[in-house]
Amino acid sequence: MLERIRIVLIGTSHPGNIGATARAMHNMGLADLALVAPRCEPLTADSISRASGADHLVHTARVHESLEAAVADCTLAVGASARSRTLPWPMITPRELGERLPTELAGEGARVALVLGREDSGLTNAELQRCHAHVHIPTNPDFSSLNLAAAVQVLAYECRLAWQAHHEAPGGAEAESGPPLASHEELERYFAHLERTLIAIGFHDPATPRQLMARLRRFTLRARPERLELNILRGILTATEQQAARAGQDDGTE
Ligand code: SAH
Repeated sequence: MLERIRIVLIGTSHPGNIGATARAMHNMGLADLALVAPRCEPLTADSISRASGADHLVHTARVHESLEAAVADCTLAVGASARSRTLPWPMITPRELGERLPTELAGEGARVALVLGREDSGLTNAELQRCHAHVHIPTNPDFSSLNLAAAVQVLAYECRLAWQAHHEAPGGAEAESGPPLASHEELERYFAHLERTLIAIGFHDPATPRQLMARLRRFTLRARPERLELNILRGILTATEQQAARAGQDDGTE
């Protein structure tokens, strides 16, 4: 279970935080580290020293240009946020995150990404809207922002506790595995197709978006569609596009 949990750091600017993240992960038995557009050199004397013997995780960390690329194969993405945002998103606590993991990771090809933001500005709204849920570490409301690696430590600890509880529970090692869920990449292709179609049929005007796509994202992500279900929805979009194109042609010949 732990090897299918990826820690994704976006736009990190201090190498020490990358090293300290590697240490926090290795302490808890996590090994999959992805860096999205880091704003510093990941491997420095500082990061190696802060990794304290876990620097192999920094050496093997994959570097991506975008969040989409870093989580393309993930079936659940959870964004860690110190602040609440304008459009409320499903919120979970670190404990609830841990409790969900055995079931989440039971399915074929299931993989979970925990996404953390920049030291100075956190995650953007667009990045948070690419996540199924947001996790908030309960804090002093007047001082809610943890150091990046400290936030990783808390989340990784909850993952480990949940993993231990699951393995110690009688029969716990075999959580029910359901049909494969849509991956992040498949969901993003669906959202792009949905937006194209809504524009083509005149339902959506990108000039006055009114958070339509964000709301549709939230609704779809909340439903946790299976791959097959998403294929049906894409089939409906294709048929809608074809119908709209035919209607357009008919108008033109009138
Ligand atoms: N100053 C930033 C926070 C940066 S902390 C802001 O105001 O948004 C760096 C990252 O650590 C955050 O993007 C978030 O992913 C994580 N983090 C810090 N505190 C957290 C908290 N209380 N709950 C969840 N994640 C947190």
